[in-house]
Amino acid sequence: MIPGKRALLARLLDTTGLTSLTLAIRRRLPPARLVVLNYHRVACPWECRDFDDDVRDASPETFDRQIGLLRREFTLIRLADLFEYLHGGSLPPNPALITFDDGYKDNYEHALPILQRHEAHAVFFIATDFIERRRLFWWDRISYTLKHATRRQFSINYPSSLAIDISDGVREPARQLHRMAGHAFALDFDRFLSELTTAAGTQWSDDLEHELADRVLMTWDQIRELRKSGMEIASHTRRHRVLTTIPDDELAEELAGSKADLEVALGFPVRALSYPVGAPVNHLPRLRAAVGGAGYEVGFSYLTGIQSLQRLDPLSISRLSIDSTWSASRFRGALSFSWLG
Ligand SMILES: [Zn+2]
Repeated sequence: MIPGKRALLARLLDTTGLTSLTLAIRRRLPPARLVVLNYHRVACPWECRDFDDDVRDASPETFDRQIGLLRREFTLIRLADLFEYLHGGSLPPNPALITFDDGYKDNYEHALPILQRHEAHAVFFIATDFIERRRLFWWDRISYTLKHATRRQFSINYPSSLAIDISDGVREPARQLHRMAGHAFALDFDRFLSELTTAAGTQWSDDLEHELADRVLMTWDQIRELRKSGMEIASHTRRHRVLTTIPDDELAEELAGSKADLEVALGFPVRALSYPVGAPVNHLPRLRAAVGGAGYEVGFSYLTGIQSLQRLDPLSISRLSIDSTWSASRFRGALSFSWLG
C-alpha cells in the first residue's frame, strides 16, 4: 500500500472509532502480539542539520504524545518480562516494548525526561565503540561530509565506482552511500570514509570528529544515568557493521566485544542485542550461531513490523520502526493494525 493511502486509511479508522475499539478489545483478550517500537533520535529538525536527517523519528513534543498514548492503550513491558515469557511465563494484555538504537545524546536529553514524566521505561541498544572512542556514527559522517562538501559533483572508487552529484540535495546521494556501505563485504570503513571526504573536499580532522561526536552521542556517564533511572541497556554491537558483511573473526568481536564493553562499563550482564541496520537473522545459521555463542538470548530486527507471539523467534524479534512524518492517527493505526505499519 502506498504511504499516502496508509495515512488516509489510518485517519479514517481513527475518526470512525475503529482504532480505539480494536485497542479496547485487545486490552481484554490474552495477548496475540508484541508491539516493539523502534526509535533512534528524538530531536528537533535543527539538531540533525549537520547529520543524517533520516535518523530522526520524532520531535520531543510528538514523542511525548506517543508515550502518553502507549501508557493509556498498552501495557509497557521490560526485557525482564520478555525473558520470563520465553521461559514459560505470560505477558500482560496489549504488551509493548519501547526501544532505542545507537546511543544518541537526545535519548538522554529529550527522551529520558519524557519517559520519566509518563512513568514509562525503554531499552537502549548501544553501539559501544562510538561511545568509547568518541567517533561519529558512519551514516552521520556520510551526511556531514556531503552537507559540508566544497564540490557539487565528484566520484569515489572504493569499494566500487560511484558518481555523486549533490546539486539537488544530499538525501538521495547519502542513501546511495549508505546502501553501498551496508552491502560491501569486509569494507575498510576508514578508507571508504577518508576517500569520500577527500573527493568531496570536506574539511575533517580527529579533533572535529570528537567535537561532533560530543554534540550527538551519549557519554558512558549518561548511559549509566539512564540505567539508574530505571531504563534498560543492551547491545547494538561495537561498530554498527551489518553482520552479514563481516568475516567470522570480526563477527565474534562485534558481538562478544560489545557485550563485554557494556558489562565492564555498567556492571550487569547483557543478554539482548539489536542488529545494526537490522535484517532478521532467522534463516542465517552462521549468524544465529554467532549471536547465541556470544551469550545473547534475544535479538531484535528492524523495519519488520509487529511481532506475532505465535511465531516468536527469540533471535529475530520484529520491531515497528517509527517515522517522523507520521500523524497521530497514523501512529495509532500502525500500532493497531500490522498492515498500517
Ligand atoms: Zn543502529
